[in-house]
Amino acid sequence: MKVLLIEDEMKIADFVCAGFKEQGFIVEHCANGIDGFDRASHGAFDVIVLDIMLPGRDGLSILKGLRKAGSATPIILLTARNELDDRIEGLSLGADDYLAKPFFVEELIARIQALLRRVSGERQNVLAVGDVRLDRIAREVTWCGETVDLTSREFNLIEYLMRSPGRVFTRTQILEHVWDYDFDPSTNIIDVCIQRIRKKMSSIGVAAGSESPIESVRGVGYRFRKLA
Ligand code: CA
Repeated sequence: MKVLLIEDEMKIADFVCAGFKEQGFIVEHCANGIDGFDRASHGAFDVIVLDIMLPGRDGLSILKGLRKAGSATPIILLTARNELDDRIEGLSLGADDYLAKPFFVEELIARIQALLRRVSGERQNVLAVGDVRLDRIAREVTWCGETVDLTSREFNLIEYLMRSPGRVFTRTQILEHVWDYDFDPSTNIIDVCIQRIRKKMSSIGVAAGSESPIESVRGVGYRFRKLA
């Protein structure tokens, strides 16, 4: 889960970023409207949390620009209390939800999860491919009924691959979605992470006589095997 937060108040940005990270989300933060629009236009995010009053370019203008450019990324607006007109305008411009300040980060996380369930039927809470089962809410992966003890990063990686079984993802795509920094794609950080996941799964898989569900595609990247 990768979230873009566009918010100029550092105090709010800090507690939201901390709450998201604790939840295992990858979070990128922009503190002004110009950078925010640029990142929202070019990055791949699962959801955008957008403040309305921003320096550079205001949130409603960003929202309008993104929707005009065809972006369908779910957007939650952060509004000040009593900004009823802004909320109505935001929803009519294509925002998916809004939350009035002040708010608890737990509520924002719950709204994001509800939103992602709502906006897309494919985003179910539980993904199941063959004997592998991934629960997005509990953030748990089981294989052949046994829990695989994964770190947050490992979970995010397997979740990303499992969204489209059989599809090959390049290292650049995986870095963009699962890491919050622009690493050089030639780094072996992904390979190391995949190796760790495979190792954790192998102790279960050997017992169950199954092959690792994550396949390397030489010179390209990785894919989650299509399992019957
Ligand atoms: Ca603001």
